[in-house]
Amino acid sequence: MDFTGKVALITGGGGGIGRATALGFALRGAKVMIVDANVESGRASVDIIIQRGGDAAFVQADVTRSVSVRDYVEKTLATYERIDCFFNNAGIAGVVRPIQEYDEEVFDQVISVNLKGVFLGLRHVLPVMLAQKSGAIVNTASVAGLFGAPGMPAYVASKHGVLGLTKVASTDVAAHGVRVNAVCPGPVETRMMRSLESQRSPNDPQAVHAAYAAGIPTGRYAVPDEVAGAVLYLCSGLSHDVTGTHIVIDGGRSGSGGTAP
Ligand code: NAD
Repeated sequence: MDFTGKVALITGGGGGIGRATALGFALRGAKVMIVDANVESGRASVDIIIQRGGDAAFVQADVTRSVSVRDYVEKTLATYERIDCFFNNAGIAGVVRPIQEYDEEVFDQVISVNLKGVFLGLRHVLPVMLAQKSGAIVNTASVAGLFGAPGMPAYVASKHGVLGLTKVASTDVAAHGVRVNAVCPGPVETRMMRSLESQRSPNDPQAVHAAYAAGIPTGRYAVPDEVAGAVLYLCSGLSHDVTGTHIVIDGGRSGSGGTAP
């Protein structure tokens, strides 16, 4: 896969999956714009890419705010002039609590980042790609977009919604050279999974990790590079006729009838 001359825009680019994907794009020739709310981790991703000889820039943004999303799109165009690949990926887990005890404010926050943030990304990036008559978008859903996950009502609802947005957007733009797909990772070794493990068992998060891993046919979590591989494929010419669908990266868990953690 060669992305020479292409521009990749990545939200949540300071996090585990976003950073691995940003590096994957950069090592294959793309210029990469990293978007993250966290300045330190966003800039660290840029430094890693530049140290490896790539081209990257950072813009701080909150994906829940329309002005902020418009700003990251404008800054990408001002810096790199086009957007060929968009990884619409920023997300949060929220708290782990049964639905009857789940705080309304937390529900709003998770939906705002994971679902509205993805909508706003599509809303502001699609016009750019439609004007170019080309582009590929990958939204980050989850196996929690396919199944339930105990104690995660907002997260599960948001990720089901991301798959819905993926289907609608892909249908709307398919005739105009723009593709929209999603990835559905199972547990991946990132900060987000560590925080979930600690919430489920503050005294023994390792036990939760081991139990989750035991429920995966491969016996382990994915690493961020394995999600990046699917995103790169979905943004490349190799997937030219693939749109409106998703790739599951979960070590065989859903195939074996498992649920999200
Ligand atoms: P992560 O916490 O390492 O990265 C998430 C990044 O998103 C962080 O850098 C964070 O600062 C950023 N972010 C959060 N809110 C933001 C906002 N409002 N505006 C801009 N940036 C914001 O976690 P990750 O595992 O790399 O998660 C990336 C995506 O993958 C998320 O959408 C997550 O739901 C999804 N996912 C993760 C797993 C997993 O097991 N880690 C599994 C399935 C899906």
